[in-house]
Amino acid sequence: MSTSQTPGISHDPASLDVTTARPTSKELFARAKQVIPGGVNSPVRAFRAVGGDPVFFARASGPYLFDADGNRYIDYIGSWGPMIMGHAQPQVLAAIGEAAAAGTSFGAPTAREVVFAELLTKLLPSMQRVRMVSSGTEATMSALRLARGFTGRAKLIKIDGAYHGHADSLLVAAGSGAATLGIPGSAGVTEGAAKDTLTVGWNDLAAMQALFAQHRDAQGKSEIAAVIIEPVCGNMGCVAPVPGYLEGLRALTEEAGALLIFDEVMTGFRVAYGGAQALYGITPDLTCLGKIVGGGLPAAAYGGRADVMEFVAPSGPVYQAGTLSGNPLAMAAGLTLVQLLAEPGLYDRLAQATTELTAGLLRLCQERGVPAVLNQVGSMFTLFFSAQPVVDYETAKKSDTALFGRFFRGMLDRGVYLPPSQFEAAFVSTTHTPEVIARTLEAARLSLAAL
Ligand code: PLP
Repeated sequence: MSTSQTPGISHDPASLDVTTARPTSKELFARAKQVIPGGVNSPVRAFRAVGGDPVFFARASGPYLFDADGNRYIDYIGSWGPMIMGHAQPQVLAAIGEAAAAGTSFGAPTAREVVFAELLTKLLPSMQRVRMVSSGTEATMSALRLARGFTGRAKLIKIDGAYHGHADSLLVAAGSGAATLGIPGSAGVTEGAAKDTLTVGWNDLAAMQALFAQHRDAQGKSEIAAVIIEPVCGNMGCVAPVPGYLEGLRALTEEAGALLIFDEVMTGFRVAYGGAQALYGITPDLTCLGKIVGGGLPAAAYGGRADVMEFVAPSGPVYQAGTLSGNPLAMAAGLTLVQLLAEPGLYDRLAQATTELTAGLLRLCQERGVPAVLNQVGSMFTLFFSAQPVVDYETAKKSDTALFGRFFRGMLDRGVYLPPSQFEAAFVSTTHTPEVIARTLEAARLSLAAL
């Protein structure tokens, strides 16, 4: 990892409470707003929920981001998940370079796709077949179409405040940027596209059972094609499943002949090497992967039971395709990163580093008398400014988002880049050393004192 410092900028703890000037970011944002909707290419980046202008970045290394003015930040977004081994990881960069030198896209099969699919099916045994796509949105959209095609049923159940990308039928009661901006649905999604999406609160098995009971036809046959969940919610902030919830969902879907889809775009290779399904010992019918499997390039995947996946074209009647699917650069980056993550003890060390941070943050909040809840699973976490446990979207929404905004801006000005919304998970990487965590906690101490 790199600990290089930017010339002219001091990074000792004594300077942590100095507001960082960002004139170039300001100017770029003003220009961007003239030519890009809202000045950004993905909504949460606009900082609408926390105030202030977004930061424009020029480069990154290890746990650090460097903005267009040369300011350095400790990064807890990690490109929203992929950078689990830090930015500009040398072996990943080398693999991308080697792949690029051999041509960037063929639109035809390559050996790396086979090797990667073999590895994924080995590491996540529920994925007996896997299809590569280019984004998490494509993975969930395709898995949902497949579930409907396979079962011959239309209805889908999703969780209030969960986010599965921006396909029409999944933009209902959605989390992430939709929750942040208070538009959990979306203009442009027709009633027809949304009417078969049913929603229910996270961690509420009784409500899920009631929904299943309601949606049966005259013969008593279930009308539910699939239940899609983030097995650890990340897009309402980090919220783990309560004990027994995933087991209950598995039994309920099996009994109804509905497919259980684990959207592990965020949790896959994040909460454990085999994803949340390995951590909790649950076998879903279909799994969606993204983020880490792309190693910072656009790759994602969906896969699952062979009998279901054989419904995908050209084997079966469910159509799905992609010009850049299995792109050589993305495969090289993702495959290399997933192979590196096999290092023994890596996930334990990541979780320990994260616990050091979350325990420290909680202690600092308690010292200042700031009501706080720290939810953490492995190396993903959220600091909720709330006095009560956060177990679902309803309780997440009780957090003090104005306070979060002030804390976020304080941390930013002290060189710590957190997700710019109360309803997002933060991520720790293997390059977040004890010194980096200690500096983060010092920034938090100063930011909390200044609230
Ligand atoms: N599913 C989950 C759980 C996600 O967190 C995200 C993105 O944050 C997606 C799907 C969509 O992935 P993408 O942004 O690559 O389309």
